[in-house]
Amino acid sequence: MNSKTVEARQMLIKTKTTDWFGTEYTMNMYRGCDHGCIYCDSRSECYQIENFDSVVYKENGLVLLNQELQSKRKKGIVGFGAASDAYNHLDKKIGLTKKVLTLLDQHGFGISLATKSAILTRDIAEYKQIQVHSPVNLGFSFSTSIDRVAAKIERHVSLPSERFQAIEACKDNGLYCGILLMPVLPYITDSWKLMADLIMKAHEVQADYIYPMFGMTLRDRQKEHYFNALQKISKPIADQYEKNYKNTYFFPAENYEQLSYNFKNLCTKLGIVYEMSEIITNYQKPYQIEQERLF
Ligand code: SF4
Repeated sequence: MNSKTVEARQMLIKTKTTDWFGTEYTMNMYRGCDHGCIYCDSRSECYQIENFDSVVYKENGLVLLNQELQSKRKKGIVGFGAASDAYNHLDKKIGLTKKVLTLLDQHGFGISLATKSAILTRDIAEYKQIQVHSPVNLGFSFSTSIDRVAAKIERHVSLPSERFQAIEACKDNGLYCGILLMPVLPYITDSWKLMADLIMKAHEVQADYIYPMFGMTLRDRQKEHYFNALQKISKPIADQYEKNYKNTYFFPAENYEQLSYNFKNLCTKLGIVYEMSEIITNYQKPYQIEQERLF
């Protein structure tokens, strides 16, 4: 092993419920993320990732994953990329995510993946191949649609404009692809004007859904990192957090009830799905119908 690798004992973790995008398993090839989002929840102590901003990969991950996929009687949807973006800068060089997709395809599994990186478009052919037999859900996460705001709070990852282009490319290739609007940062990205801009841009590229969270989590190491970063970006905003944050796990966006109301209205008007149950149904439905035909 070298300094960029760790040894994995298990790759596929069975989920307790399928509430999150219908996933039955989760997995990661990487630990840590070098995208530099100042608010990242994965810095929290509960994830136990030391040196979070430096990425390491699981050296034996592909071999182990191959064995585990082979041993599963029931195929399912694998959630990939939570707590560590599967399209980090190391993946651009070593391409492990592409190899994971090939394994999922060979073993007949589906995938649900969230990323902030337009590098995903490199692997469109693999997603199309999986989609022939199993559900594929591709989610691009956003906190804002405005490039200059994102450049300050998500420093080393594709700009929102590049993510919208990536969504368009996925949709042009017939892939199911939407947006995770989270976190919405109090005092920074929680104005209706910004949110409406994002919804309209999502509509232009024909995103299948927008799944929102009107606020952010804040705890231990994540909070410390975020508050320090805010001090460097804007002292007045940092002061607002110090004043109004009540030491709770979830810090809601300002006027979140009104925001939520406006969000649902505009999405409904434009035909954009935002309820989790509907998102899951829409991307899994074609395969369930196929199974019903078989039996
Ligand atoms: S891309 Fe995701 S995992 Fe990576 S730093 Fe940003 S929020 Fe965290």
